[in-house]
Amino acid sequence: MSKYIFVTGGVVSSVGKGITVASIGTILKSRQISVTAQKLDPYLNVDPGTMSPYQHGEVFVTQDGAETDLDLGNYERFIDVNLTTESSVTSGQIYSEVIAKERRGDFLGGTIQVVPHVTTEIKDRFKRLAEKSKADVVIIEVGGTVGDIEGLPFLEAARQMRNEVGRDNILYVHVTLLPYLNSTKELKTKPTQHSVNELRRIGIQPDIIACRSDYPISEEIRNKISLFCDVERKAVIPLTTVSTIYEVPLVLEEEGLGQLIVDKMKLKPQKPDLSQWQELVNLIKTPREPVKIALVGKYVELQDAYFSVREALQHAILHHGRDLELIWVPSETLENSGDVSVLRPVQGIIVPGGFGIRGIEGMVRAATYARENKIPYLGLCLGMHVMVIEFARYALGSKEVNSTEFNADTRYPVIDFLPDQKGQKIKGGTMRLGNYPCELANGSRAAQAYGQSPIYERHRHRYEFNNEYRQRLEKAGMVYSGLSPDGRLVEVCEIADHPWMLASQFHPEFTSRPGHPNPLFRGFIGAAKNVLREGAQPPLPLSSNL
Ligand code: GLN
Repeated sequence: MSKYIFVTGGVVSSVGKGITVASIGTILKSRQISVTAQKLDPYLNVDPGTMSPYQHGEVFVTQDGAETDLDLGNYERFIDVNLTTESSVTSGQIYSEVIAKERRGDFLGGTIQVVPHVTTEIKDRFKRLAEKSKADVVIIEVGGTVGDIEGLPFLEAARQMRNEVGRDNILYVHVTLLPYLNSTKELKTKPTQHSVNELRRIGIQPDIIACRSDYPISEEIRNKISLFCDVERKAVIPLTTVSTIYEVPLVLEEEGLGQLIVDKMKLKPQKPDLSQWQELVNLIKTPREPVKIALVGKYVELQDAYFSVREALQHAILHHGRDLELIWVPSETLENSGDVSVLRPVQGIIVPGGFGIRGIEGMVRAATYARENKIPYLGLCLGMHVMVIEFARYALGSKEVNSTEFNADTRYPVIDFLPDQKGQKIKGGTMRLGNYPCELANGSRAAQAYGQSPIYERHRHRYEFNNEYRQRLEKAGMVYSGLSPDGRLVEVCEIADHPWMLASQFHPEFTSRPGHPNPLFRGFIGAAKNVLREGAQPPLPLSSNL
């Protein structure tokens, strides 16, 4: 039977609960304890797929096609598991399920209430994941902050679980913030005390309190939190801000959290081995020569919108022993001014996913710059559409080339709706989602990067390469290096006469892991690092860099 760890957040949002969950997963896994994770999101959307990235940050996609919170990406990267739909639960899903059951007559004669009907539905989701994953420990993050109205049914369900599974099989971890007062130069514990009181009012006494803080936490503060919040002194875990998220598991281990969880839950672990994480963090902290990459996107003001892309770049950069210097370029600025000088110092250009027309022409300009100046380019989903539009404008000699997403009446629709999606009006969950196979062409850069075929990567899109243009673009120098097994869908394309210009219809960023960078990102950085940086000296003829 699986055991459960519930992680709640107090005081403020964005306190680092997701990374704490992911890191607890890492330190348990390092003891050969199998883990999985689940995120509870209190909003009424069925999934974040219909939300703007400005509202929500990145939409992470699981292999089985669930559109989820970006925290699932952190769970996957830290625990090194492929999660499924069961790991993402929203109030929208719970309520639509309960109401569908009511309409079907499943509760005939009854009054449908938050307790027990909604809470039972929530608990079923906990148990479903436990059964499917067979994990020793299921770690569940309750989204939002304790005290939010929307989060109450989730907390109530978490409370009820204690009696169902027994005290030794459940653990409550509360992550709070200790604000720092500049005037008195001290960390304050009162907000933590209040948020623990709020949790207790709901019936949950935390077993462990993780205290996020930008400053070191003194013994005195730990003692105070222990006394006022009624947790053991060793269960007050300092979570001081660190320079890289990948250090958090090491910090938590150092503070004894792993042993504490093992003892409290009576788990039977092996000796912890975090040597790979230690190596990774050592590498991150070693000064390395930077590679300058421009990310040209629509939502760059909110960097969380590209969370997995940034992580995948990091993984690839570390693989090549370099440091990432990422320049965030709002595509609209390239579009409005037409001035691409911001791209001049960069060694690689990445155009990530996105929706809608805003900023598209700026991305096309970036692709033109990459093609003409032989700068490595990686296009992800929308970034592939952009690369195809740009190349087709050049090859067909017409500015009118476009995707029907941006101009429904374009004369040259090189990117168009999937034939079976024509007429699709419903927006939620109707894209091509999740893993699909792709066969790679021998000798292509994509095949070189992956070193195997077929590959499986995750999708999230409506529009596709229009096969009517395949031959014409091929003649002009476009290579279709990845196709669906039936040959109908272009999954990866490359520009032949270019050092490394490649784009994929899928999102390779979702499968990248620290220590195992996604092959396309690895290939892209491998090419970018060879581009001479502005002001750098060309290598001497006998240099090993050649
Ligand atoms: N807007 C494009 C489509 O729907 C690309 C989507 C994406 O980049 N994820 O096909």
